[in-house]
Amino acid sequence: MKRALVCGAGGFIGSHLVKRLKRESFWVRGVDIKYPRFAETEADDFIKGDLRDFSTCCDAVDCRFDEIYQLAADMGGAGYIFTGENDADVMHNSAQINLNILEACRRRNSKRIFYSSSACIYPEHIQRDPDNPGLAEPDAYPAAPDSEYGWEKLFSERLYGAYARNHGFTVRVARYHNIFGPEGAWNDGREKAPAALCRKVAEVKDGGEIEVWGDGEQTRSFLYIDECLEGSIRLMRSGCTDVLNIGSDEMVSINKLVALIAGVAEKKVRIRHIPGPLGVRGRNSDNRLIQEKLDWRPNAPLVRGVERTYGWIAEQVAILRQRGASAA
Ligand code: NAD
Repeated sequence: MKRALVCGAGGFIGSHLVKRLKRESFWVRGVDIKYPRFAETEADDFIKGDLRDFSTCCDAVDCRFDEIYQLAADMGGAGYIFTGENDADVMHNSAQINLNILEACRRRNSKRIFYSSSACIYPEHIQRDPDNPGLAEPDAYPAAPDSEYGWEKLFSERLYGAYARNHGFTVRVARYHNIFGPEGAWNDGREKAPAALCRKVAEVKDGGEIEVWGDGEQTRSFLYIDECLEGSIRLMRSGCTDVLNIGSDEMVSINKLVALIAGVAEKKVRIRHIPGPLGVRGRNSDNRLIQEKLDWRPNAPLVRGVERTYGWIAEQVAILRQRGASAA
């Protein structure tokens, strides 16, 4: 039986990855500082521990693994990573996890590892136009990310590369672009735009008003969780040593995303633009390299993922309302 280790298995992408690997009949160990928030983990073994502690990392890698996925990070949406308030934690915690995991893997001779980097590593100055043609992988250099989160990701990409060169690791690195779907953060301050906007639309009455940070003309592309997992697994099992974007190239403005969600919810929604943390002005994924290297690229329409995500968040909102009503 094949064995996989998922670091960050209590998080959004990690918990979905565990389910996917279980469907493929892997024996899966998850590690995280917390259990998944919305469903029981499906991992065969789950270590609840802090990966900033080297001993936890050594315990996690105490047997042979065919695949190791390192997804653990101190992260969140714009309200968490772009305010500046969490910069020291974000850099220290995530760098420490990556340093520890790689060293534990080296000592245990478990050397096939996937690392989830981010579109946030791309330079700010090539993302000022909302009509972004797409960020291609070589655009990463000369480096100038707009957040400390991005700088840590870039440092860690290079750290994984160095372990590949100097210690014989087989390393696969993906730059994720805005992954979304059910069972992700939606109301705890770490939620990203699709979940936050689904929540606002679910909470408002038909004809009501929701708040959007900035003028809403900033653009992004959003990738549904299933395609993120498909791309990650394909990359992991490929011979590709290049760092690859894993993202959608269906770019939309935030105003358009609201309209899409409102359409799915069958509500009329007005937008009030307010100041807030924004990140870059325009971002899109260039998918030529992933197509060339993996003979595959994400291609599901955004609306399909929005339907599933809105359905799940509307359910969460209804459950909370019901609880509030019965407590009153
Ligand atoms: P998430 O926050 O849901 O998951 C990260 C997990 O890491 C959390 O469960 C958290 O508890 C765990 N973690 C943090 N510190 C830890 C510690 N010290 N010890 C053990 N576990 C710890 O985030 P996600 O959306 O699932 O993202 C997974 C990975 O993908 C992260 O590395 C993230 O930076 C990267 N990424 C995500 C996106 C996205 O849109 N979701 C985009 C780009 C990159």
